[in-house]
Amino acid sequence: MANVDVVVLGGGAAGLMCAIEAGKRGRRVVVLERAEKIGKKILISGGGRCNFTNLHCASRNFLSRNPHFAKSALARYTPADFIAMVDKHEIAYHEKTLGQLFCDHSASQIVTMLEAECRAANVKIVAGTEIREVSRDTSFVVRSEGQEYHAAALVVATGGLSIPKMGATSFGYDLARQFGLKIVQTRPALVPLVFSSADRKRFSDLAGVSAEVIASAGKESFREKMLFTHKGLSGPAILQASSYWKEGESMRLDLAPERAATQKIRKAGTRGMSVAEKALREFLPNRLAERWLESYPPKAWTNAALDAFEQKLHAWEIRPAGTEGYEKAEVTAGGVDTEELSSKTMESHKVRGLFFIGEIVDVTGHLGGFNFQWAWASGAAAGRAL
Ligand SMILES: Cc1cc2nc3c(=O)[nH]c(=O)nc-3n(C[C@H](O)[C@H](O)[C@H](O)COP(=O)(O)OP(=O)(O)OC[C@H]3O[C@@H](n4cnc5c(N)ncnc54)[C@H](O)[C@@H]3O)c2cc1C
Repeated sequence: MANVDVVVLGGGAAGLMCAIEAGKRGRRVVVLERAEKIGKKILISGGGRCNFTNLHCASRNFLSRNPHFAKSALARYTPADFIAMVDKHEIAYHEKTLGQLFCDHSASQIVTMLEAECRAANVKIVAGTEIREVSRDTSFVVRSEGQEYHAAALVVATGGLSIPKMGATSFGYDLARQFGLKIVQTRPALVPLVFSSADRKRFSDLAGVSAEVIASAGKESFREKMLFTHKGLSGPAILQASSYWKEGESMRLDLAPERAATQKIRKAGTRGMSVAEKALREFLPNRLAERWLESYPPKAWTNAALDAFEQKLHAWEIRPAGTEGYEKAEVTAGGVDTEELSSKTMESHKVRGLFFIGEIVDVTGHLGGFNFQWAWASGAAAGRAL
């Protein structure tokens, strides 16, 4: 049996940050990680370069049933705080686009940095261990293979359901339910969409073609690249909008953002297909321009028909059959209901000493480093309260 102050379940971004902050305050902390090594998602993130934060982080970059919940933690642990740690460890980084910071070399540097900070704060990390049972009498009792931990505080940082191949399970959500906490229904987010069968027949051979679009779902719009895949649509614009898309609804795509796409056709001496194709090729890749004209040609060459053609280019309504699911989702939306938690400390209102941090909470970031910033900020909020 081991007596500690804090058991952290999950050695990912949030769990490690929480452990560091609590360790720095002199708490005896053990991190229990089921995988054979910590920080596996950090290693694969950002194409191996880890987009570890975003300079323009604000609560509008997050989805949650309570859009105000994340504000407090995000204000008290900012991108500048994480950058200070990265600088201290002399990790080179750059801004790629839209405030997204990536390592110049490798995501493994972030894991090495977090490990070093854990060591400095006397945090004990036990990887490759299966949690058998969690219970609570006067303190929390966590039984893993061959060891029993007693702690006044338990922090659940087991992440979301995305990428089951890497070992994601519902363990943390089940634990929340065990202690009577409500869960906002989970769903895959930042996820590629699958075409309906009609659209698939029409467009799947365009796999690999990309274009800048505005993708809109619900009230949100994102102007970025869209990519055709064999199954449907992906790329940053689609991933961002997917987080707001609901099963059965349509998504609107503007294929010619801020362009009068038919202007050149209208001005041409002879209006016709070859002029139209040339006009579309100015802003769409050739294959997409051709396919668009085959699929949705102007009904005539009158101004009224061109108005309709223009309108469709700006508001292509697709009704996806679904998403590619947790297998391909970058994150899980929904999770432990924020009503259950203190926004300052992430502690459960109902069960004193029980904390939930990171992706398991119903706070989901946009693409671009926001999910890690939430992991760091919520981890720090809990760690400083322990
Ligand atoms: C391919 C990919 C790329 C991404 N790239 C980025 C990016 O560049 N920037 C960004 O901001 N976000 C990115 N994300 C999202 C980001 O990785 C997550 O939002 C973030 O890792 C969440 O942190 P977390 O600590 O809550 O969960 P995780 O990092 O998933 O950590 C949870 C940990 O808990 C462990 N665990 C699970 N169950 C148990 C259990 N029963 N017992 C013990 N341990 C357990 C897991 O093995 C894991 O180590 C990416 C996600 C994916 C899938």
